Amino acid sequence: MGSDDSFSTRSIHDATAPRSVNPPAVGGIEQSAGWTFADLDEVDDVYEGLRRGAIYGGSGVPNHWALEAALCSLHGAVETLITAAGMSAMAAAFFTCLRHGDTVVVSRDLYSSTARLLADFARFGVRSVFADVYDPAALTKTLSAGARLLVVETISNPRARVIDVAALAAAAHEHTALLLVDNSLASPYHCQPLRLGADIVMESLTKFIGGHHDLMLGALCGRRELIEPARSFAARCGLIGSAFDCWLACRSLATLELRLSRSSSNALAVASWLATQAAVKATHYSGLPADPSYAAADATLSRGFGSIVSFELADDRAAVDRFLAHLRLIKLVLSFGGVATTVSHPVTSSHRSLSQDERAAVGLHDGFLRLSVGVEDPADIIRDLKCGLAAV
Ligand SMILES: *Cc1c(COP(=O)(O)O)cnc(C)c1O
Repeated sequence: MGSDDSFSTRSIHDATAPRSVNPPAVGGIEQSAGWTFADLDEVDDVYEGLRRGAIYGGSGVPNHWALEAALCSLHGAVETLITAAGMSAMAAAFFTCLRHGDTVVVSRDLYSSTARLLADFARFGVRSVFADVYDPAALTKTLSAGARLLVVETISNPRARVIDVAALAAAAHEHTALLLVDNSLASPYHCQPLRLGADIVMESLTKFIGGHHDLMLGALCGRRELIEPARSFAARCGLIGSAFDCWLACRSLATLELRLSRSSSNALAVASWLATQAAVKATHYSGLPADPSYAAADATLSRGFGSIVSFELADDRAAVDRFLAHLRLIKLVLSFGGVATTVSHPVTSSHRSLSQDERAAVGLHDGFLRLSVGVEDPADIIRDLKCGLAAV
C-alpha cells in the first residue's frame, strides 16, 4: 500500500479506509464471499464455533445472522436458517427431515410448488398423501396409517382458509409426526406457529416480510436439532440467499407491524364490501363471520385476519379480463404481499399445471381471483374494485 507498488497492485489494494470511530445508524451490507483471518488459531476457533466469524458467503455472513436473530425473536425460535427463497427453505426441510420409505401428509389446499416439490421426492421413496386438514376425523385417520411429516399452510394459498395450528400440532404429535407450517400468508405478525406447538415454520420472506416485491428469501425456524441439519445442507447446496436481500429484509421487518396492521384492516373492509356485491359469487376471508375459517382464525391468528382476500366472479374468462382492464390502481401481479394492492388469477398462473378436474377439486375456476390488499386508503381500493365490477 505504498507508492512503490505498481499500478495493478495499487488498483487492487489501495481502496481502503479506516472504519468510522462512530458506527452508522443503519448496519451495512457485507457483500463478501471470502473472509480474512488473522492466523490459524482464529480459523480453528471460527470453525469450532468458539468465536463467531464468517467463513464463506455460502455459509452465511453477518447480514444473514441479523435477519436470523430477528426471526428467532419474532417466532420464539431457538434457531432460524435464512435461504435464497421460500422454496429452498422447503427443500432443505424435506431433504433433512425425510428418509426413504417415509410418508408426508399434506393439505390438499397447498401452494402448488410445494406439492410439486414433494412429487419430486417420490423418486427417492418418499410418499405424499393428501388429506383434508380442515376435517379432524379424516386427518387423524390419514395420520394413523403412519407419517413422518404433516405439511400445512396457516392461511392457504389461494383459498385463504385458516388451520387450527394447535389442534393440528396435537394430532401430528399423537401419531409421532412433525408439523411443518408454511406461514407465508400470515407472517409472524398474525401467527407464530411454534408458540402453538408446530415443530418447524417456513416463511417465504419474498411476500409480506419483504413487503415491496424487491427481494427473494425464505426461512426455516424451529428447534436446534431440526434446523442445524438444514443449515449444513443449505450451505452444501448453495441455498443461502444474498447479503443484500437480507439487508433489505431487515429494513422491511422494521415496518412489518405498520404495514400489516393497515393492510389487514383494509382487507377486512374490502372483504366485507365484496361480500355485498351482486357480481361477486363468493368471498373467502376468515374475518367474515360467515366464513368456514372464522373459528379456526380465532384460535390461530392474532391482530386481524391477514391481507389476502379471495373472491369469485362468474366462471367467464372474458368477464374477468374486463374486470382487470377497468382497474386503475390494482395491477395483475402473480406474487403478493407488497404495499400496493394487487390481484392474481390462479387458474392461468400458480395453478395452470392442474387439470380441469384437479382445479375443480380445489374449487378453482376462471372467475377465481386472489387479492393482496395493500396499505392505500381503503376507500380508494374499494372505488377501484367498484370500477372493475361495473365492467363485468
Ligand atoms: C410464495 C410462496 C412460497 C414460495 O416462496 P418463494 O420465496 O417464492 O420461493 C411458498 N409457500 C407459499 C404459501 C407461498 O405463497
